[in-house]
Amino acid sequence: MSIRIGIMGYGNLGRGVECAIKHNPDMELKAVFTRRDPGALSVLTEGVKVYSAEDAPSMKDEIDVLILCGGSATDLPEQTPRMAEYFNVVDSFDTHAKIPEHFEAVDRTASDHGYVAVISVGWDPGMFSLNRLYANAILPGGKDYTFWGKGVSQGHSDAVRRIPGVKDARQYTIPVESALEAVRSGSQPELSTRQKHTRECFVVAEEGADKEAIKEAIVTMPNYFADYDTAVHFISEEELLRDHAGIPHGGFVIRTGNTGMKDEHSHVIEYSLKLDSNPEFTSSVLAAYARAAYRLSREGAKGCKTVFDIAPAYLSPEDGAFLRKHML
Ligand code: NAP
Repeated sequence: MSIRIGIMGYGNLGRGVECAIKHNPDMELKAVFTRRDPGALSVLTEGVKVYSAEDAPSMKDEIDVLILCGGSATDLPEQTPRMAEYFNVVDSFDTHAKIPEHFEAVDRTASDHGYVAVISVGWDPGMFSLNRLYANAILPGGKDYTFWGKGVSQGHSDAVRRIPGVKDARQYTIPVESALEAVRSGSQPELSTRQKHTRECFVVAEEGADKEAIKEAIVTMPNYFADYDTAVHFISEEELLRDHAGIPHGGFVIRTGNTGMKDEHSHVIEYSLKLDSNPEFTSSVLAAYARAAYRLSREGAKGCKTVFDIAPAYLSPEDGAFLRKHML
């Protein structure tokens, strides 16, 4: 019997999960839930209906895992603990500083109601977190580096769009190649924010807007751009739609460290991602962890978990004998 998946929230991630289910023959999409008018949305999978988010609890016996695809800022802190009363759930909560409190809130309801909840699944947090942990355990005397990009930062793009005179904008975060090389050399450099990443903005200005003022507002914006070297390019709306419609992202998690009685041998551990579509990749990770949540739940587990708590074999559709023979 296949794993029956529900999707809560039909944005980039919701659509990505729908695609991911197509690539996982042991899963089937049962329902999509939205806070918007369900009649106004249509999904791509034949025979699957869109329901109001309010109706989700009434379908608790028809869904094995509900994948929560809301935003981290305000949706998930409310939706994940609430839905963990009725379902095994997986979310991609990515506000790093608030993960401990999100964990506590979700753990309370998931434990009380006997469900498995996996939070903060994706690539960062998610696959990057796992690689940080593995590398730290293996090279205790070492140094960590995380670089992001090249990729679109939704938050920085939004910040540029809020500047008066800006019609639309896309912001890319780009790792500095020379900093990457210095890290990979094993020299364990100290790098400032400015030395690690640059930022590049493609801006569509309103007719007659003061482009110099827009540029100044961008490069001096505290928290977002002031600590970085930022390039600003003004382009037409057609160019933005033609050349910058995608949501690529990626990055590098690197740890370098030494071993030997005199620390004479150095090692570099590097994990990198180059993603054409940030949401579709994140959704693929969510699908794999939905399988793990389903299996753990069938074994009687309950409560909140992160990627750190789940053994890798739970992610795979293959059984232990197959994995030992082909992947070990
Ligand atoms: P999004 O497209 O903005 O969707 C978020 C929610 O907004 C949807 O669930 C949907 O809920 C609602 N929505 C979507 N389109 C809408 C529209 N046109 N009008 C009104 N409401 C709409 O966000 P996303 O790109 O899927 O990302 C969701 C979260 O994933 C982000 O906040 C981010 O924190 C997280 N994320 C994590 C990772 C990671 O590595 N861990 C990576 C990428 C993203 P309803 O259907 O209920 O209205």
